[in-house]
Amino acid sequence: MRMILVGPPGAGKGTQAKRITERLGIPQISTGDMFRAAVKDGTEMGLKAKEYMDKGALIPDEVVIGVVKERLSKPDCAKGFILDGFPRTLAQASALDNLLKEIGTAIDHVVVIDVPDDDLVRRLSGRRTCRNCGFMYHIEFNPPKKPGICDRCGGELYQRDDDKEETIRNRLKTYHAQTEPIVEFYSSKGLVRKIDGTGSMEEVEKAIEKEIGA
Ligand code: ADP
Ligand code: AMP
Repeated sequence: MRMILVGPPGAGKGTQAKRITERLGIPQISTGDMFRAAVKDGTEMGLKAKEYMDKGALIPDEVVIGVVKERLSKPDCAKGFILDGFPRTLAQASALDNLLKEIGTAIDHVVVIDVPDDDLVRRLSGRRTCRNCGFMYHIEFNPPKKPGICDRCGGELYQRDDDKEETIRNRLKTYHAQTEPIVEFYSSKGLVRKIDGTGSMEEVEKAIEKEIGA
């Protein structure tokens, strides 16, 4: 299964990708996680990426495409993958098409998770992530048992730098202007499965399962 999760920031892509990964045993490829790891490691690419991320802007296509190309060539992607947060522009979508054609494969499903902007601001400002294992919580909708501590591994929970209201607004604008056009690109190929993302995490998971038949 090769699938893409598309949706505005906070739609639940990461949350659902983790559930699908556990169920189907295929890797989650989150470009956001990869760039945050580069920022944490203080690499040259990480330092450059942070400037864009802090503004709620997109990292240049050629950088992102290079990173994804390398990741998709790893053996764990041979049987499938879930792309979370990539592609985010038409140029990235067409580069991905070419990349997959070169290796004789293609995307099976493009799952588009739809959530209104006002709900997204609430979701993103309450998001907390474990520094150690990356598991995600929400202070209201999915709180940890002990505030600030991960239920799974005891790690410290943190708020992402870009989950501040002003940056959130920029990220939403960026999504509508630069990412939404890829939905039409994939619609014309018959790959789009639209999901109402406003239900509970379990409801959204069930809706995705139904659409992708797995
Ligand atoms: P994305 O990866 O699309 O940016 P996340 O999966 O990180 O979004 O979800 C954003 C925040 O919203 C997280 O705090 C997560 O716990 C919460 N969340 C995810 N799905 C739902 C849902 N269906 N209902 C309520 N909150 C949700
Ligand atoms: P995310 O974790 O998916 O919300 O991504 C966080 C930030 O990383 C985005 O706001 C962008 O600055 C950057 N980013 C992640 N994926 C991409 C991508 N495919 N193209 C460009 N920038 C990206």
